[in-house]
Amino acid sequence: MGSAEFLPFTRPSIDETTIADVVAVLRSGWLTSGPRVQALEAALSTYCGGRPVRVFSSGSSTLEIALRLAGVGPGDEVITTPLTWVATTNVILEVGATPVLVDIDPATRNIDLDRIEAAITSSTKSIIPVDLAGLPVDRDRLYAIAGRHKLRVIEDAAQSFGSRWRGKPIGSFGDFVSFSFHANKNITTGEGGALVLPADVDPALCERMRLQGFQRFSDGGMDVDVLGGKFNLTDIAAAIGLGQLKRLAEFIERRRHLARLYFSTLDPLLDLGLPLADFENSNWHMFQVTLPKEVNRGNFIAAMKGRGIGIGVHYPALHLFTLYRKLGFKEGDFPHAERVGRETITLPLFPGMADTDVARVCLAITEVIKQK
Ligand SMILES: *Cc1c(COP(=O)(O)O)cnc(C)c1O
Repeated sequence: MGSAEFLPFTRPSIDETTIADVVAVLRSGWLTSGPRVQALEAALSTYCGGRPVRVFSSGSSTLEIALRLAGVGPGDEVITTPLTWVATTNVILEVGATPVLVDIDPATRNIDLDRIEAAITSSTKSIIPVDLAGLPVDRDRLYAIAGRHKLRVIEDAAQSFGSRWRGKPIGSFGDFVSFSFHANKNITTGEGGALVLPADVDPALCERMRLQGFQRFSDGGMDVDVLGGKFNLTDIAAAIGLGQLKRLAEFIERRRHLARLYFSTLDPLLDLGLPLADFENSNWHMFQVTLPKEVNRGNFIAAMKGRGIGIGVHYPALHLFTLYRKLGFKEGDFPHAERVGRETITLPLFPGMADTDVARVCLAITEVIKQK
């Protein structure tokens, strides 16, 4: 990769073996959910310690179905963070429930566990923790709170596939766990997601909710007993996922290495807000820093782009989006999330990046900030 080439903030790594398997699916005549979907579900279940796993067309549909399976609906409140991809709260509205937001802990940038209990009411049904950038929410404290108040947990682990908690893979324990395989996530199916099911949920019911609520009988008959959507994954996508899953450990090792390089190369005098240096649990889905207050983010991003470097923003605090303001949220409700949402940038980090790319990004940041 020449230094003149544009460096995006992320890019998937798809190998030739995976491409050949996608071609094999296309030649097979069976494009929609079939043997590759079953193989991917089996491989994901093995990864999750044998728990049942079902794959979906997105990580948003997994969250929505998890809420329905947990019995969350109109009149119920669901607690989550304002600093996440808006899918997390949109699905709560989609099932007719009410999102209740709790500010972040500025050190982890995840939901502040110390503030959750004050937000619980008699209508609270569930908590959706989000592992922003792949850094897991403290699962011990989270499940202690959920247990005390008899709340269902739907882990939005869209960004933390491959992360661990006390040595155990995220997904291998807990209540519902939802993953996304969007093109920007640590492993991808193009678009897709997976839902790990708790023991009290019937996987067959999950399958019906995934596809029009229908079931087929051996005599050729059919029935529909619940309302289902159209959320199944294609075999084309599942073939990509099978190829990606084989490389999970390699991808994470490379991401960790690059994250360490950022810590050692970024100029400490720039007054950037660094992420928590977690090299035990996090899969380093993103490397995010906050800019000093006096640096205009839009100008910074444009100047980096001028130097051939892509910078992402994940995310503005979602309660300030028009739809959420209309629900009554306002500026000042969650000051930590608002500040991080204003100042955060996502630096390039993906397995195919070279070590020299980190040096190039860090040098460009120094030049741009010093010029202002
Ligand atoms: C990506 C993402 C989702 C949604 O996943 P899709 O596959 O894009 O539907 C949900 N929550 C978070 C935190 C995400 O990053």
